[in-house]
Amino acid sequence: MGRLFVVNLEGRIYSCKHCRTHLALYEDIVSKSFQSRHGKAYLFSKVVNVSIGVKETRMMMTGMHTVADIFCVGCGSIVGWTYETAFEKSQKYKEGKSVLERSKVSGPGGTSYWVSHAHGHETAHGGGSDADEV
Ligand SMILES: [Zn+2]
Repeated sequence: MGRLFVVNLEGRIYSCKHCRTHLALYEDIVSKSFQSRHGKAYLFSKVVNVSIGVKETRMMMTGMHTVADIFCVGCGSIVGWTYETAFEKSQKYKEGKSVLERSKVSGPGGTSYWVSHAHGHETAHGGGSDADEV
């Protein structure tokens, strides 16, 4: 069958947690303050190696948006969503950008972030959860 055409990124990479397909670069993060149903999510100016699902208009916290789910081309799992259209002027900056759910991707620091977090050991108590910052 057809071979997947996968783009390889270099640098500080966010990749699919399941199959390690490269999805986005740290330097392309626009905002880390997004939320999804599953927790933290980051807005990226661009993502690669994703297929785009059906467009639909959703009412989100910040107003009406036309969005589409995005899926990893390597394993087909949903990794986030992309913004087609923002109805509110103040949200227009999101158009053409994509959100990756933090729980679906592995960050540049590897997987330890999630492992230690989930099991609750080796994690200093306190609020700082941006363990992948440096
Ligand atoms: Zn994948």
